[in-house]
Amino acid sequence: MLNETIISICMLAIRQFKDHLPLDGLTHVKRIRKDEHGNYAIIVCLRKHLSDISELAMQEWIKNQPISWEYLGNLYIVQVAATSALTRKQFEVASKYWPISFYEDKRISTAIEGKLFNQEVIQNIYNNMDIAISTALENSMFKIGAVMVDPESNKVLAKASDGRSRNVDSSLLKHAVMTCIDDIGKMHVAVENTNNSSKLPNEESNNQRGYLCTGYDLYVTKEPCVMCAMALVHSRIKRVFYAVEDKEYGALGSRYKIHVHEGLNHHFEVFKNIYRDRCLQLQ
Ligand SMILES: [Zn+2]
Repeated sequence: MLNETIISICMLAIRQFKDHLPLDGLTHVKRIRKDEHGNYAIIVCLRKHLSDISELAMQEWIKNQPISWEYLGNLYIVQVAATSALTRKQFEVASKYWPISFYEDKRISTAIEGKLFNQEVIQNIYNNMDIAISTALENSMFKIGAVMVDPESNKVLAKASDGRSRNVDSSLLKHAVMTCIDDIGKMHVAVENTNNSSKLPNEESNNQRGYLCTGYDLYVTKEPCVMCAMALVHSRIKRVFYAVEDKEYGALGSRYKIHVHEGLNHHFEVFKNIYRDRCLQLQ
C-alpha cells in the first residue's frame, strides 16, 4: 500500500514535470528510478533550466514551479546518457548513470560482433574496394575512386575516378560518386533505347525503373559529401562502403548523417574503414 501511494505521487509529479519541464531530446531517458534501498528519484528538469545550482537556489527555484514540490526531497544533479543506446553494452554503461529505455537492434549487435558478413562476402568487399583504389589513381588532382556493384552477382556495373580539375569550372560536379551514378543512368537510357530484352539487374527484381541504384552497393575511397550523399538517397542506393572519413565535408557519419536522416524517405546502411590505411595514402 505504501509502495502504491508513493508510486501514485510519483506518477502525478511525473505528469506535471512532463508537461511543464519536458526532457527535450531525451526521450530515451526514464523520468523515474528506484534505487537498491527502494527509494524513488524523479528527474525534475534539465540542468539548462537552472541558472544557479546551489542547493538553496534549487530549493527556491522549485517552490516557484507550478508542480507538486511538497512531496519532493532535496534536489541534486545527476548525469544521464545524451543519446539512446544502440547496443546492449552501451545500455549497460548508460544505465549505471540513470535508467534509459532500450530496444536492441539485433542487426547492429551482429555487425559490432563482426558476424554480419561471411568470409566470402568480406572478401568481395575488400576486392571491390581494391577496384575503387585502382580507379582513384586514374586522376591526378583528387585521388578518389568509386565503384557501383550489384551485390547479388558481385558484378561491377560502373566505376569512376574524381573528374575535377583545377582549371575547368565545368568539372566542379564531377565527384567520383556523381560520375558513377551518372554512368548507371546512361546505362539505363541505353537499355531503354535498345530493342532487345537486355535488362539491368535491378529492373528485373525491383520493377522500379525510376530509381537508378535500387539494390546496388557503392564502394568509394573517401566519405561522400552532401551532394553525393543526396544523389545516393535519390537513386535509392542499398549500401555504401567507404574507406576514409572526411571530417570537414563527410555526409555519411562525420559532418552529417544523411543516410539515416529522419526527414528523408530513403535510408541505407554505411560501412567504413575498409582499406582505410591504404586509402589514407591516396590523400
Ligand atoms: Zn561529393
